[in-house]
Amino acid sequence: KAQAAVKIAKRSGKVEIYRNGVLKEAQRRFSVESRLRDALAQGELTLAFQPLIHLQTGEITGFEALARWEDEELGHVSPVEFIAVAEESGLITSLGRWAAYEAAQALSRWDAKFGQPVPVGVNVNLSPIQMARDDVASMFEESLRYSGISGNRLTAELTESAIIADPEKARKLLFALKDLHMPIAMDDFGTGYSNLASLHSLPIDILKIDRSFVTSMLEDRDKEIMVRTILSLAESLGLHVTAEGIETQELALALQNLGCWQGQGYYFARPMPEGEAFDYWRARWNFETV
Ligand code: C2E
Ligand code: MG
Ligand code: MG
Ligand code: MG
Repeated sequence: KAQAAVKIAKRSGKVEIYRNGVLKEAQRRFSVESRLRDALAQGELTLAFQPLIHLQTGEITGFEALARWEDEELGHVSPVEFIAVAEESGLITSLGRWAAYEAAQALSRWDAKFGQPVPVGVNVNLSPIQMARDDVASMFEESLRYSGISGNRLTAELTESAIIADPEKARKLLFALKDLHMPIAMDDFGTGYSNLASLHSLPIDILKIDRSFVTSMLEDRDKEIMVRTILSLAESLGLHVTAEGIETQELALALQNLGCWQGQGYYFARPMPEGEAFDYWRARWNFETV
């Protein structure tokens, strides 16, 4: 039966198309991996910084650091693609170390330009695979020490999947980050398998509502209910909430009215290079931005 199906598929050309598709995907993955290896070795990745806005006061409280890669052969490669390849290939360890170090260095360069500590922090994303394979606590400890930055200015962003993968290891790591005075945020909150017990027992400070709920919450009643539920859950647990994916002023105002703490999204600003991020902050730091 299977052979007959293959024969029919072959005759209609479907097998060829399928084989070409798989082959192309494998080739792409292979070239992304080998170019990424070089790019990391040669320091060709950069960080972009997207402002985080205190929704009640309009102040810029910090920036999320997001990896960017422009390759001379491949052109712009999305972080969604190269982070996945980094995770599959093991390169995520060195990418993650680079990002933490670079985020702390950016803060120290901003402080030097300003002549005193800039009252903002930077959020660094952690991959569950990186957390499983690397000593993330000493990675941050070294980045902070090298840059002379205090721990409360670097927030770790991790996802629920990292906690589910190895709860005991995650618990130790989170308490080690607390020893460094680092705030801890749960990224993409609402998209994974939330474990309410771990939210309560782990030293988590911030829930970041995934943008899949935020962006359409004014048109989609289910999304709005999700956002309201996360806000009241956070309130009962004493956690702060950041809403990502705020694309309009209506959304910013709606979330402000719901009492949401912090916002992030294209309405305020897109991720931008380190120097521009500093200028953005300096131009607005005593004005309201909402
Ligand atoms: P994330 O951590 O959830 O980051 C937020 C993503 O939402 C970013 O995408 C940001 O550019 C995008 N975004 C922010 N505001 C808006 C908005 O208003 N509308 C829309 N449509 N999008 C918005 P980006 O930069 O493409 O990064 C994608 C993901 O790649 C990140 O999602 C994060 O999971 C991962 N990533 C990026 N840099 C790193 C890194 O250094 N390490 C690790 N482990 N992951 C990273
Ligand atoms: Mg993030
Ligand atoms: Mg996020
Ligand atoms: Mg997200």
